[in-house]
Amino acid sequence: MAMDHKGQEQERRKRYYAANRERIIARQRRYYAAHRKERNAYSKKYHQAHREELEAYNKEYRDTHREEFKTRGREYYLAHHEELKTRQRKYNRAHADEQREWKARQRKAVWDEILRIYGASCSCCGTQTRYFLTIHHVHGREEGERGRANQFAVWKKAIAAKDPRAYRILCFNCHLGGMHHNNGICPHTKRNSSKKPSAGKTVRSRY
Ligand SMILES: [Zn+2]
Ligand SMILES: [Zn+2]
Repeated sequence: MAMDHKGQEQERRKRYYAANRERIIARQRRYYAAHRKERNAYSKKYHQAHREELEAYNKEYRDTHREEFKTRGREYYLAHHEELKTRQRKYNRAHADEQREWKARQRKAVWDEILRIYGASCSCCGTQTRYFLTIHHVHGREEGERGRANQFAVWKKAIAAKDPRAYRILCFNCHLGGMHHNNGICPHTKRNSSKKPSAGKTVRSRY
């Protein structure tokens, strides 16, 4: 019968594979090594042509195996903790320049966005010199927002807020002047105020 014949054939193949496993694997490996470029090009092309299908499939697979992935990831991390740390450090060292440039580009893009939203000049004295400008949080920075490390987070918040009552662009002079003078009002404002000192009385600035 056809079924029996098929079954026998399968058995024969299985036995052949078991007996020659090492040799078959070695041959495959040699073949892959010799045709690496072609194979890479082929799978790249295949991937490009089936991108959406493949991504949908991967997503579904990830979604249905989420817990498994998590557990496995944690186990792997715990087992290879030191190795991973060393590798990360090595990678960071080797790519330090790139990473610095990337960070600088990020910072510039975010700062550009802030100036686009809040205006590219000091809202007190009007200076437009980019490197003099800073953002002032009118209601004060919250706990944990101080320090250079958190500057990026503050910028992102300011971009999300788009609230000119909460954030203003100031130059460093006006920012500092305001911080140390007259409850947040820059000395410029006092000097430029329309209120004239009454006659005979000298107003001496503390600055
Ligand atoms: Zn200013
Ligand atoms: Zn000012």
